[in-house]
Amino acid sequence: MYGLGEEWNPRKARDFSLGDYMGGEPRWCPGCGDHGVLATFQRVIRDSGLSPEKVVVVSGIGCSSRFPHYMKTYGFHSLHGRALPVACGIKSRRPDLDVFVITGDGDNCAIGTGHWIHALRYNMNLTILMLDNNIYGLTKAQTSPTTRRTAKSNTHPGGSFFVSLNPITVMLGITNRSFIAQSVDWHPSHLYETIRAAHKHKGASFVRILQRCPHFTPHAFDEVLKDPANLVLLDHPNGVKMPENQLKHFKNVLDHDPSDLPAARMMADKPHPFHVGVFFKDENAERYDLVTRQGRGMTPREKVEAVEKTLDLFTI
Ligand code: SF4
Repeated sequence: MYGLGEEWNPRKARDFSLGDYMGGEPRWCPGCGDHGVLATFQRVIRDSGLSPEKVVVVSGIGCSSRFPHYMKTYGFHSLHGRALPVACGIKSRRPDLDVFVITGDGDNCAIGTGHWIHALRYNMNLTILMLDNNIYGLTKAQTSPTTRRTAKSNTHPGGSFFVSLNPITVMLGITNRSFIAQSVDWHPSHLYETIRAAHKHKGASFVRILQRCPHFTPHAFDEVLKDPANLVLLDHPNGVKMPENQLKHFKNVLDHDPSDLPAARMMADKPHPFHVGVFFKDENAERYDLVTRQGRGMTPREKVEAVEKTLDLFTI
């Protein structure tokens, strides 16, 4: 990483290498999809020219939530399900930072559900990557909200009872959401373009990434891994537009304008085939981080006076 040498100047344009973002040696299992997501993520922020000291990676608890340890940026490995309130707090006070949230299906769609829904509704400028391996991996294979019906786990050895939660339909169903996308860990070029589009979007961008867990759910994604015809690429200049030379990796390509909410809902509702790309995007959704910026330029004296003025409203 750039040190504080004589040539260091925060306002000078700098070039970064991948090494500038690489933190500790990842301790995920061999073959875990998290490795690929980490490598792609580091490429995106390198190519976007983000200064490491201006990036914060916030996570909750789970295998994927070890992400901040493997980044040489600022990071916050928070509590189970609580990555989003931490990230919103950081963005509220430091809108100049690029804030990324890394969460998992157990972390985000169970204990973190309330924060998930309201963070998307508040639409602060965050990039949220949810790595979905269909299981609680860190705590050794318990059923998560996205575990498929009949899939066996340590909590449901006879098979999961319920139809799994669909994170995309949940997100499309709430108000003021502004960017909903889906990708997979084994298509680095698509993942790269999707994370890049999510980061460029001004608002809360939510990307669900199917993430292979060879240790506990080795067959969870067989349907799309073994037969690429079951995967449909949503290609559109307003969402993710894949480079021409990458289209050959997709057997099915659909022109989907992400401003078309009814079409997005219809696709998300169907379990087959599996769509990757940007389902929905609204650049005009209201943003709470623009509201919470107010008062940032005030002096400490002015802040105290403002608080006192507000408290005076409650004087009896
Ligand atoms: Fe990855 Fe699964 Fe191992 Fe966790 S248990 S590190 S998700 S392969």
